[in-house]
Amino acid sequence: MSDLINASLRELSAALEAKQVSSVELSTMFLDRIEKLNPEINAFVTLDRAKTLAQAAEMDARRAAGDTSPLLGIPLGHKDIFCTEGWLTTCGSKMLHNFVSPYDATVVTKLKQAGLVTLGKLNMDEFAMGSSNETSYFGPVKNPWDTKRVPGGSSGGSAAAIAARLAPVVTGTDTGGSIRQPASLCGLTGLKPTYGVVSRYGMIAFASSLDQAGPMAKSAEDCALLLNGMVGFDERDSTSLQRETEDYTRDLNKPLSGLRIGLPKEFFGEGMADDVRATVEAALEQYRQLGATTVDITLPNSGLSVPAYYVIAPAEASSNLSRFDGVRYGYRAPEFTNLDDMYSKSRAQGFGSEVKRRILIGTYVLSHGYYDAYYLQAQKIRRLIAADFVEAFKACDVIMGPASPDTAFAFGEKSGDPVKMYLSDIYTISTNLAGLPGMSIPAGFGANKLPVGLQIIGNYFDEAKMFNVAHQYQQVTSWHREMPAGI
Ligand code: GLN
Repeated sequence: MSDLINASLRELSAALEAKQVSSVELSTMFLDRIEKLNPEINAFVTLDRAKTLAQAAEMDARRAAGDTSPLLGIPLGHKDIFCTEGWLTTCGSKMLHNFVSPYDATVVTKLKQAGLVTLGKLNMDEFAMGSSNETSYFGPVKNPWDTKRVPGGSSGGSAAAIAARLAPVVTGTDTGGSIRQPASLCGLTGLKPTYGVVSRYGMIAFASSLDQAGPMAKSAEDCALLLNGMVGFDERDSTSLQRETEDYTRDLNKPLSGLRIGLPKEFFGEGMADDVRATVEAALEQYRQLGATTVDITLPNSGLSVPAYYVIAPAEASSNLSRFDGVRYGYRAPEFTNLDDMYSKSRAQGFGSEVKRRILIGTYVLSHGYYDAYYLQAQKIRRLIAADFVEAFKACDVIMGPASPDTAFAFGEKSGDPVKMYLSDIYTISTNLAGLPGMSIPAGFGANKLPVGLQIIGNYFDEAKMFNVAHQYQQVTSWHREMPAGI
């Protein structure tokens, strides 16, 4: 049974299919690990063994009745930004510490239908604002590779859960890097899809024009399988795209000969730690051996992505949070009698300091007299950044570079300096501004045996190609199978 801890989704699925293990047994195995390791790691903030096992039993019954869905009976964790019916949904905030969602987010509904079993809810930076998981009301998450260090954020609980093998797959969300940066710092594979591919209904908004949900797992193949279960048009999300669903595993085994990898010079300049640079270079060399060629490209406006993001994201967040949009996102905790009552009670409970900072920035850049100078400028820069990518993809099929400028940093190292913290996402943010898909895959280890992530950016809707590119690398390397010592 213990070999199942590090198993791929296909292996788990085969074991379930062959009746070597039931979903109840598999879920119990992960719950037991969570019970043992979570008090230290703090990845899960809500657990409910009875609920999980009841759902697992349901999946076992579905299998007995002939259901052959590929992910049937496989347990997963959900980032606590997704509304889950009957479970606490806190978004890492004191404001929602007692909010039990009356309904499921579309992502949650779809993954239930696909047969996955909910192990619990995963810790995160408050309202997904952060890069270290230090802003959660429920305390920081520890990086299983070194518990004195952060797992990254905001999907820090999601990342740590996989790294500690407390779940085989999890959901995350990425507004400016929150899937890719924690995946990089925890040695995982994670993908932020093209904007609009995954429904945001029931996913608590941070910045609606940037937010996307995506899978995090050990391997690209696992991420592709999970993404298959997450996507699809949803009339309840006005930004959801109407397009044919595709099988994201379809191109996994294509050879990479002839692949053109664009290397933006702006991603290889100053600011990247030496060990990250050396590891990324080695990964690129591996790609050349797989038959790919690298081409130098430029994304001239990418240096403006962090400032543009830190105008746009807080502006959108302040609109959501200061009104606390109860109707659209369905915050209806049972003790609130009406919306006004909810606003005043929630606000009295208070936001943490990072959320307050964002609301302040957002309100400022949207205010009369400053709107043109900040918000409008940022929107123009956003358009230029998107245009840079259109130009770049004329010369290459995918873009590569580091996912994060450094490996996992120590607690407190950046939390006192917002600009330092904001620069954690310097390589990931431009993708969100452009609406493009982005991914991080484990590429090896830097100093102190800390994981380093390689970022792969694809053109719009090129997720299947990105999974192919990542999977081929994972066929000739084993970084994605490495586990932290003591786990
Ligand atoms: N670290 C970035 C921020 O704090 C991005 C967070 C995210 O992607 N949710 O805004």
